[in-house]
Amino acid sequence: MRVGLGHDTHRLVDGRPLILGGVRIDHPRGLYGHSDADVVLHAVADALLGAAALGDIGEHYPDTDPRWKGLDSGRLLAEVVELVARAGWSPINCDVTIHAQAPKLVSHKPLIRANVARLLGLDATSVNIKAKTGEDVGPIGRAEAIACEAIVLLGPAVAAHGASH
Ligand code: MG
Repeated sequence: MRVGLGHDTHRLVDGRPLILGGVRIDHPRGLYGHSDADVVLHAVADALLGAAALGDIGEHYPDTDPRWKGLDSGRLLAEVVELVARAGWSPINCDVTIHAQAPKLVSHKPLIRANVARLLGLDATSVNIKAKTGEDVGPIGRAEAIACEAIVLLGPAVAAHGASH
């Protein structure tokens, strides 16, 4: 088995949609980035790459590459799952912590969980989503940014993995 850690931070700005874990959340501000700036899926993708010792998403999806502009991070994560599967690994479980002062994420967690599980080819019972505020301090607490940490455990790839791609 292999374990991997992922982290991501994006700035909150006006005039962008807020997408967390592939779920579009109604909020007056969204995350700034070259892609859709989905901190959750980026952290999960980096955790997968870390566990498989395949580098990071910045190497695979450089933000200087126009192909990745506005990229749907669900597609990015699906590709990373595929890459990891080709290296002989498949996800066993995933644990995620989202750091956001606003919006409150409690009502969105089930959908984010289901979406991350679907992208990882896992049952929702193998995925956990936690949400923390920034306690009103620092860039998270001042709602200047949203950050996310993810940890993923990998085991030997199962034969059927990636068959849907
Ligand atoms: Mg990112």
